[in-house]
Amino acid sequence: MGRIVLNRDRCKACYLCVDACPKKVLGADNQVNALGYYPVKVNNVEECIGCAMCARVCPDIAIEKVYR
Ligand code: SF4
Ligand code: SF4
Repeated sequence: MGRIVLNRDRCKACYLCVDACPKKVLGADNQVNALGYYPVKVNNVEECIGCAMCARVCPDIAIEKVYR
């Protein structure tokens, strides 16, 4: 189905993607990014179904869906 690519330095830590993920794949990182936010991180990538809901809701285009 594809996979996601997360650009942690674009993330502004709104966590809309965390709430949008039906598989609870995403969570907050404990290290700040280049913008000074605690960005999203991928907790359990093996659970990702490639639905791209996270990429769709991200206002900062920090998550990209990659088709293969
Ligand atoms: S929706 Fe985008 S900006 Fe918001 S926490 Fe997720 S990756 Fe970061
Ligand atoms: S693609 Fe879907 S399952 Fe994978 S992290 Fe994003 S919202 Fe969650």
